[in-house]
Amino acid sequence: MKFKEKIREIQDFPEKGIQFKDITTLLKDGKAFHAAINQLAQPFRHQDIDLVVGPEARGFVVGAPVAYALGVGFVPVRKSGKLPGETLSYRYTLEYGENVLEVHRDAVKPGQKVLIADDLLATGGTTRAVVQMVEQLGGEVVGLTFMIELLYLKGRQLLGHDNITSLLKYK
Ligand code: IMP
Repeated sequence: MKFKEKIREIQDFPEKGIQFKDITTLLKDGKAFHAAINQLAQPFRHQDIDLVVGPEARGFVVGAPVAYALGVGFVPVRKSGKLPGETLSYRYTLEYGENVLEVHRDAVKPGQKVLIADDLLATGGTTRAVVQMVEQLGGEVVGLTFMIELLYLKGRQLLGHDNITSLLKYK
C-alpha cells in the first residue's frame, strides 16, 4: 500500500512556512486506514506491552486502534481540564508558548509496559512530555510508534529511545 499518496499536504497551515501533513485523507479510506493500523501494530505484536498511551487528539485516532489490534488497553493524554478523575498535569514549552497535558493518575500502574502512539513525530516535544508523564506514574516506555515522522526535525534524536517506529518518513 502506497500510504504517502493518501496523505494530503497543505501549504501554510496552521501558519506560513509549514507544510501540514493531513492524515484525514488516509483515515477516510477504509483499506488504507486498516492496513496502516495493522502495519503500525505489527512490530509490537510479540513485544511485552500492557498499554498504549496517546495524546489528544490525533494520538487517539492512531493509538486506540493500535491498542485494539494488540488486545491491550488505551490511555488518553488530554489537554488541561478535560479528564474527570484525579490527574497528573505536565507543563511544557512549545516553540510559541506553553502547553499543559493531563493523564489520570491511576491510568498507568508502576511497572506497566507502555507503547506511546501519535499521528506524527515532528520535533518530539509532545512525545517527550508524554514519555515523562508515563515515567512519573511509574510506567516503562518500551516503544513509540507514529504514522508519520518528519526526519528533518530530529524528534528521534530528542527522544533518544531505541524502539521508535514510523510508517512514513519525510526527508
Ligand atoms: P512535535 O511535538 O513537534 O513532535 O509535534 C508533534 C505534534 O504536533 C503531534 O501531536 C502532531 O499531531 C502535531 N503536528 C505537527 N505537525 C503536524 C502536521 O504536519 N500534521 C499533523 N500534525 C502535526
